[in-house]
Amino acid sequence: EAKYSGRNQYELYHTEMHRNESKKMIMENNLRRALERNEIYLVYHPVMDANTNEIVSVEALVRWKQKQLGVISPSEFIPLAEESGLIIPISEWIIQKACEDLKMIHLQGKPKLRMSINISAIHFNQENFVKSIDDIIQKTNVNPNYINFELTESMIMPKANESVDKLVKLKQLGIKLSIDDFGTGYSSLSYLNRFPLDILKIDKSFVSGLLNYKEDCSIVEAIITMAHRLHLKVIAEGVENKKQYEFLKKENCDYIQGFYFSKPLPFHKLITFFESWDQEFIK
Ligand code: C2E
Ligand code: MG
Ligand code: MG
Ligand code: MG
Repeated sequence: EAKYSGRNQYELYHTEMHRNESKKMIMENNLRRALERNEIYLVYHPVMDANTNEIVSVEALVRWKQKQLGVISPSEFIPLAEESGLIIPISEWIIQKACEDLKMIHLQGKPKLRMSINISAIHFNQENFVKSIDDIIQKTNVNPNYINFELTESMIMPKANESVDKLVKLKQLGIKLSIDDFGTGYSSLSYLNRFPLDILKIDKSFVSGLLNYKEDCSIVEAIITMAHRLHLKVIAEGVENKKQYEFLKKENCDYIQGFYFSKPLPFHKLITFFESWDQEFIK
């Protein structure tokens, strides 16, 4: 009996492994042509000001709709694109598309909206990264003061000196800088003073623990206090319910993002979303 179920488990594991392998192969074989086939697109996740309940920015999130596999999440294909070097054209496409869409949003009645863009470590660490950004800004003629780059601790720490140079140059272009997934990377906090940062994004793993673990409450409180002392703003990501929202508001978190008030939206739904947004929705 034990032997039998053991074998079943093995077979199950084997089939699962096989499926994952062929999925990876399909992804690898098709990623190269995904851009030219127009299979890559962006969705936008609104961010709310916790004091005014206004929508102040959106975060661009990439998606890949593949014929056989359907919609593939970025946590699956971005690492693959980074391994193969395909990330560079994809990342440049993402940044350019987000800038073009931001211009449209500004023209369509939201002239103050900001755009957050997740940056790939591989792209960031290219020598000509800043130039490639400057080129996109020139080409799209977007106002860079409304652009925010999301970076992670692990992408800027290994070559800290070079990173500081690049970040200073990005700031000179007018771009704002955030640390994404804050609290999950390096334990050294010394970099917070060294890098010209504007915003910390508290990782959603801490936010999801807010109701059940008082340790997570303490961590979130501490991050907010520390950030404010360092003159940084704070976003909480992954806010899914009213209790988390209220806790964060009480703790003076500056911005809120999460499924509680919106899923990421395709561009054509954004304007309607802004129009129907009720700033009083939970006050
Ligand atoms: P991230 O930048 O930390 O993005 C947050 C992720 O959490 C997104 O998943 C978002 O849809 C999800 N999320 C937001 N609010 C909630 C919530 O309330 N509940 C839950 N359960 N999830 C929430 P997504 O879009 O699958 O992105 C995953 C990661 O992939 C991103 O993490 C980012 O690291 C990367 N990524 C996404 N878009 C891009 C991109 O355009 N370029 C690059 N280089 N990386 C990207
Ligand atoms: Mg992000
Ligand atoms: Mg994050
Ligand atoms: Mg993340």
